[in-house]
Amino acid sequence: MLTRDDVFEELGIGPVWRLRETPASPSAPVPATATTWEQLADAVAHCTACKLAATRTQGVLGVGDRNADWLIIGEAPGADEDAQGEPFVGQAGKLLDAMLASIGLARGNKVYITNVLKSRPPDNRDPEADEIAACRPYLLAQIELIRPKLIVALGRFAAQTLLQTDEAIGRLRGRVHTYQGIPLIVTYHPAYLLRNLPDKARAWEDLCLARRTYHSLIPES
Ligand code: URA
Repeated sequence: MLTRDDVFEELGIGPVWRLRETPASPSAPVPATATTWEQLADAVAHCTACKLAATRTQGVLGVGDRNADWLIIGEAPGADEDAQGEPFVGQAGKLLDAMLASIGLARGNKVYITNVLKSRPPDNRDPEADEIAACRPYLLAQIELIRPKLIVALGRFAAQTLLQTDEAIGRLRGRVHTYQGIPLIVTYHPAYLLRNLPDKARAWEDLCLARRTYHSLIPES
């Protein structure tokens, strides 16, 4: 039978998930592999795997129910999230909460929210490829710990990171993908929707698709 360590190894995240105490150097000490939430939180708090460690206030691991059915994945902490240590607490977060409420969900109740990047990119710029690569193991580890019933990817960085594609969001949304056997729905990022109101209707369709998909998996829910 496969152990969790086997799964992590299979995912290729075992060694990468280890925290370097100092910026990469051949002799940097490598503490034990994190296999619990506590170890993961500690690893993110002290992570120096990319250049964002130098400018962030704190690592932002995620928030919500660690046994969630729904895993919501955004892009990266912004200024508010960097200051408060919680994802989606600013304007985009308010819209996300409204989007969740529209399908009968609430932050923390069967829902876990995180981002592709755990550290804030300066000036709210887009995540860069090396930052995504450095942070991806944390996201994969969270998915492995939560084993959600359904994943909602908000925006292209979440969608492309999990689906390993560079297809545009307009082509990825509107259908059910899978990540490691877990249904994955792609929709627009709330920050984008705040600037592009007409696409809210499409986001609503995506949320309805997510809800239908969830109910088809768990009919009694
Ligand atoms: N945008 C994100 O993608 N994540 C946050 O936590 C906040 C804004």
